[in-house]
Amino acid sequence: MTDAVHVDEQLLGRYVAELGAIGETPDGMYRFMYDAAWQRARDTLLRWIADAGLEPRVDAVGNVFGRLPGSGDGGVVLTGSHVDTVPSGGRYDGALGVVGGLAALAALRAHGTPATTLEVVALCEEESSRFPANFFGTRAMLGLVGPDEPDRLRDRDGTTMAEAMRGAGLDPAAVGAAERHDLRAFLELHIEQGRVLADEGTDIGLVEVIPGIAWETVTVRGRQDHAGATPMDLRADALQAAAQMARELTSVVEREGRPAVATTGRWTVEPGQPSVVPGLVRFSLDLRHPDLAVRDRLLDEVHRTCADVARRHGVEVDVVRDKDEEPAVMDAGLLDVLRGSAEACGASWRRMPSGAGHDSQLMATRVPTAMLFVPSVEGRSHTPAEYTTPEDCVRGASVLATALHRLAW
Ligand SMILES: [Zn+2]
Repeated sequence: MTDAVHVDEQLLGRYVAELGAIGETPDGMYRFMYDAAWQRARDTLLRWIADAGLEPRVDAVGNVFGRLPGSGDGGVVLTGSHVDTVPSGGRYDGALGVVGGLAALAALRAHGTPATTLEVVALCEEESSRFPANFFGTRAMLGLVGPDEPDRLRDRDGTTMAEAMRGAGLDPAAVGAAERHDLRAFLELHIEQGRVLADEGTDIGLVEVIPGIAWETVTVRGRQDHAGATPMDLRADALQAAAQMARELTSVVEREGRPAVATTGRWTVEPGQPSVVPGLVRFSLDLRHPDLAVRDRLLDEVHRTCADVARRHGVEVDVVRDKDEEPAVMDAGLLDVLRGSAEACGASWRRMPSGAGHDSQLMATRVPTAMLFVPSVEGRSHTPAEYTTPEDCVRGASVLATALHRLAW
């Protein structure tokens, strides 16, 4: 006999399927903060929360909560994840942590009243698919939303976030009311979105650290010339130089090996004409490593590489840092609880860094936080092909439920 808490597989399967049908198109999931699909998801979750015997609540920015009140006044242990998706996303990213947390609390109701209050949350925005407002729900809970954000931020159609909030029945002037000071711990169940667990056949990933992302814009200035009249040996082609930089900086990171990653995903070429030698190129660099010292060493090497290529090609290069995040270290005590809970559930586990960013990285700056991953089949995510087996979903939710039981009773 162990103290494992088993989540109802049927119930969780129904949650995953029904939430996954909200905002789903033949081209994948489209559920963006405050849009019609998002509102349907919110209303559905509120109904499920009430059906599970939990207290439903929506806060000032649209985070949805289900509460299982405890007998003590020791604050709240929170679990959950985000309910918004990327464009053409999958059914599991974010959603599994929400419905897994809900199914966990539903299972825990049978254990009577906890000493510590438990809540599950569907965070309203993580991906910034509609507004440039990364982690909006988590930031609102931590008091980190600027008072001008709802009026300032616009979606692609020009709708302000304030207008969208009013459309969803929320008052943009009230965002400050979402702030919480009673959180004692946060646990987030999430799909891995990579293939480490699936390839190894390991059930549960205990996330030790979420890497700090560095984003840079590399600008390469060459000389714009006629494509027909300028001999190859007299050119300062900004694109050829930039392409060489991208190749060589990628080699730097490949030589470092896992888990270092670098991506040059966005390019602009000016003037962008078939008959003109490109005079200016900008490309983005996204570089991640869980160890800040290693990440910064790699960035130094990348910068030296770009300068060297620029010299060889007779162009100028400059690099601007757009984003510079510290790695978020997960709470060691909570990871111990998750490890013990995985073992109680008969699940195999390993410690690992997260590849992707998550709400947990921000939550961890204020509240003891830990994450657990379940396998993504073939490592696919941010695509309609995203899939986690029902067995892995229920195993992850049961480990979460067991950990919440250990923390709250
Ligand atoms: Zn996510």
